[in-house]
Amino acid sequence: MNRPEVVSDPAEAYRRVRSMQQAGRSVGLTPTMGALHEGHLSLVRAAGERCDASVVTIFVNPTQFGPAEDFDQYPRTLREDCELLAPLNVDFVFAPHVDVMYPAGMSTSVQPPSVAEPLEGVCRPGHFAGVCTIVLKLLQLLPADSAFFGQKDFQQALVIQTMVADLNVPTEIRVEPIVREPDGLAMSSRNRYLSADERERALSLSRCLSLAEQAITEHDADSQRVLEIMEQELRQSQVSEIEYVAVADPKTLSEFSGPIDRDAVALVAARVGMTRLIDNRLIRISAQQA
Ligand code: AMP
Repeated sequence: MNRPEVVSDPAEAYRRVRSMQQAGRSVGLTPTMGALHEGHLSLVRAAGERCDASVVTIFVNPTQFGPAEDFDQYPRTLREDCELLAPLNVDFVFAPHVDVMYPAGMSTSVQPPSVAEPLEGVCRPGHFAGVCTIVLKLLQLLPADSAFFGQKDFQQALVIQTMVADLNVPTEIRVEPIVREPDGLAMSSRNRYLSADERERALSLSRCLSLAEQAITEHDADSQRVLEIMEQELRQSQVSEIEYVAVADPKTLSEFSGPIDRDAVALVAARVGMTRLIDNRLIRISAQQA
């Protein structure tokens, strides 16, 4: 099993994708910021299953980090990442240098769609403009047939799907399920920042989503009650700061008020120690219950 070749030159990456397509191979793209874990690898596997060729990008995108965020500390582990990708039949890894993606003087940025406004949009101003800009750039450089994203970043997936539809980008966007640790913690590159004690407290994020699901599906709880239940669980576990809990429409992210009578997504963002974590769960309301 060979580690995949790493390409850093955008023109070379474009040429490779186009020549694979011209040879009749469909290309699946998995954009990541590296520090790969099973969540990322599940996307790469999905790309391998659905497409003839698979390309992974590894790029810690500065424009999606706020000034007080962890861009400098973000783990950069290209060698280990390539080891993890070795068994997955990846055609190449695109890992460009930051100055190549953002040459001095570049000032263009994508205005994100309105679904970027609530939740993460409130807590992380400018984040989705950075996400949209880099994803659009990557889809131009690597004009894949399909691109794979994780439900772990629920709002991000929705923002990207909307942008791609609005701007007529001809790549199909696929969203894959959240991969969790056996105890329920959603896998994240940021989990490696957690101390043992913080990791224990971090379990309250997935627990509060289970409680929300139970309250909605078993007890017909209304949205206010569900939010209280989620907050109570997070407080009991002494997370350092609750940034938001929400129960929203999975297509528009508009929050429920009152009864939850159709499919919903429960979302949470909280700090555990210094580490900011997010998680979510789709909650299906059966036709009978509704
Ligand atoms: P990141 O490297 O954090 O930018 O993530 C790259 C892609 O992996 C994004 O589409 C994420 O949603 C996805 N991802 C991250 N964590 C998980 C996970 N636990 N399960 C599934 N997908 C994930």
